[in-house]
Amino acid sequence: MTERVDEHERTMAFAEIALSQIKALHQPAIPRNYEVWYSYATGYNPSLNQTINETLARSGNLSDEDLEAVYTAYLSPTRLSDKLDKVGSRVMDEIEQVMARVNSAVGSAGSFTSNLADVTDKLGSAKGGEGLRAIVESLVQTAQEMKKTNNALEQSLSASKQEITQLQENLEVVRTESLTDPLTGLSNRKFFDDTLAKAISDANERSEPLSLVMTDVDHFKSFNDTWGHLTGDQVLRLVAMSMRQNVKGQDIAARYGGEEFAVVLPNTVLRSALTVADHIRRAVMSKELMKRSTGQNLGRVTISLGVATLRKGDTVQSLIARSDACLYAAKRNGRNRVICETDPELALGGAPPAPAAEPKVA
Ligand code: GH3
Ligand code: MG
Ligand code: MG
Repeated sequence: MTERVDEHERTMAFAEIALSQIKALHQPAIPRNYEVWYSYATGYNPSLNQTINETLARSGNLSDEDLEAVYTAYLSPTRLSDKLDKVGSRVMDEIEQVMARVNSAVGSAGSFTSNLADVTDKLGSAKGGEGLRAIVESLVQTAQEMKKTNNALEQSLSASKQEITQLQENLEVVRTESLTDPLTGLSNRKFFDDTLAKAISDANERSEPLSLVMTDVDHFKSFNDTWGHLTGDQVLRLVAMSMRQNVKGQDIAARYGGEEFAVVLPNTVLRSALTVADHIRRAVMSKELMKRSTGQNLGRVTISLGVATLRKGDTVQSLIARSDACLYAAKRNGRNRVICETDPELALGGAPPAPAAEPKVA
C-alpha cells in the first residue's frame, strides 16, 4: 500500500509539471501533448528533453508541428517500425532505379551490336576510299555513343552505391536504437536476453566458461524519496558508467530493469567474474554524489551483486535465477557486497535483511 501511495505522489508530480507546461504555453490539452510533457518532466528520455529545450530556446514555444515531430520521433509506439518502413521503401526505390539504368544500358548495348552488324555488311560491299571512310566514321560515332552511355551508367551506379551505403548506416542506427536503453546508454533488456541465449549456446558449443553478474542498487527507494527521481536517474547513469568502465571486449553490460543491471561475461570463470563484479562495486561506492543544480553533497550509493557461472543443462532462466539468488544473499548479508554461488552465505538463505552497511545518503 505504501508503495502505491509513493508511486501516486511521484507520478502526480510529473503530471502537475506536464499540465503546468501545457497551461503556460497555451497548448491544447490533448493526450499527445500531455504525453510529450509528462515524458519531459520525468527526464527519462534525454534526447527528447534536448530537442524540446532547443526548440524553446529558439522560438519560445512548441508549435503543433513541433509537438507532433517530438511525439513521432521519441514517443510514438510505431516510431521504430516507421523508420524501418521508410528505410525499406527507399531501398526498394533505389533497386528499381538501378534496374531501370541497367535495362537501358542493355538496350544501348543491343543497338551497338546491331550497328556493328550493319557496318560489317556495309564493309563487304564498300567501294573505294570514300565508302570506307563513311563506314569508319559511323563506327567511331557509334563507339562514342556507347562510351557516353557507359559513363552515365557508371556514374549513376556509383551514386546508387553511395545511397545504399547511407541507407545501411540508417538501418544500423535504427537497430542500435532499438537495442539501447535511452536513460543509461547500456544495452536494453531485449539485447541482454538475446545475448545471454547466444552466449550460453556458444559456451556449450566451444566448451568455454560463461559467467553472469546481476546487480541492484541498494536502498534506492529511499534515495529517490530523499533526493527525487531525476537525481535517482543520475545515479542509474553513474552505475551504468561504472559498469562500462569495468567491462571489456565481448562482455555485455545491460540495464535489466528499473534499477537492476546485468553483465554477461563470455569465456570467464567464476573467480574472474567475481573480480569484475568487485571492481564495479568499488567504482560505484567510490563516487561522491553531488546535486548539480544546488551543489549539495548527496553522499554515496552502493550496489549489491550476485555472480553465477554456467553449468551443464543451464537455460537462460536457470542461470539468471542463480545469479539473482546470489544477489539477494548479498542483500541479506548487509548489501554493498558481491556473493557468488560457492560462497557459504548463499546456503544460509532466509536470514532477515541486515541494516545498511554503506554510508548514509542523507
Ligand atoms: P534494496 O536495497 O533492497 O534493493 O532496496 P531498494 O529500495 O533499492 O529496493 P526496491 O525494489 O524496494 O526499490 C527499487 C526502487 O527503484 C523503486 C523505484 O523508485 C526505483 N526505480 C526503479 N526504476 C527507476 C528509474 O528508472 N529511475 C529512478 N529514479 N528510480 C527507479
Ligand atoms: Mg530492485
Ligand atoms: Mg534496490
